Amino acid sequence: MGIRYVSAATLAETGAPVDAVPEKSRPPLPVLEDVRPASKPLVSSPIVDGAKPQWLTASPDTLRAMELLAFDRDICECQNCPLGKTRKNFVFGTGNPEAEILFVGEAPGADEDAQGLPFVGRAGQLLTKIIESTKTWKRGDVFICNVLKCRPPGNRTPLPEEVEQCRPYLEEQINIIKPKLIMALGASAAQALLKTKDSVGKLRNKWHDYAGIPLRVTYHPAALLRFDGYKKDVWEDMKELTAKYTDLKGK
Ligand code: SF4
Repeated sequence: MGIRYVSAATLAETGAPVDAVPEKSRPPLPVLEDVRPASKPLVSSPIVDGAKPQWLTASPDTLRAMELLAFDRDICECQNCPLGKTRKNFVFGTGNPEAEILFVGEAPGADEDAQGLPFVGRAGQLLTKIIESTKTWKRGDVFICNVLKCRPPGNRTPLPEEVEQCRPYLEEQINIIKPKLIMALGASAAQALLKTKDSVGKLRNKWHDYAGIPLRVTYHPAALLRFDGYKKDVWEDMKELTAKYTDLKGK
């Protein structure tokens, strides 16, 4: 079992403006299998309906936006692990599909599960402040998602088997967005992306590599809400992220 990926070409059949994108600039699409029961229809596409989904903070007409919308549509009914049965809403992510910076957290909490959007509770508001305190990005400029797309009951830590089931979705989001830099928020995100069991304390203060993309690790905003002492460390990590971004833009 895997993912059925709806290509930009398929979107064109549904009336999406894919022809605006030059053929030669379209990257090859991954070939993945179908996770949905054959009898289950796709949920209605936001593109076909002409309505922009709430999670999208930019134009739905770019190739990346269309690919992300199609990917969301294809996986949003996933039942590959037991969390599919207990969630209120599938939480795909939010932001700009053209984002140069990707923030990855652990899993939706109660507020996120209720709204179908990531980082909308107190930790999410703090993440917005952290991002915008750099004076480099607004929240809507970046893309924000989690390793798990469904809420673990009681906000417990994701189980290894849940991470294994859900990680391919995150990997495909990264493959579509192609961010210049990734910031892993907390141990679950860092460990899932780097395939390690090391703690945040051990993974901070250095650059890692995720499929050729520089990756930094910092504390999850929820940890900051519990322990004020992490604030200075997170600020230092954001300064490193901003400096690296400036450096990459200058090249
Ligand atoms: S957590 Fe991930 S793998 Fe599990 S049901 Fe939700 S989307 Fe599917």
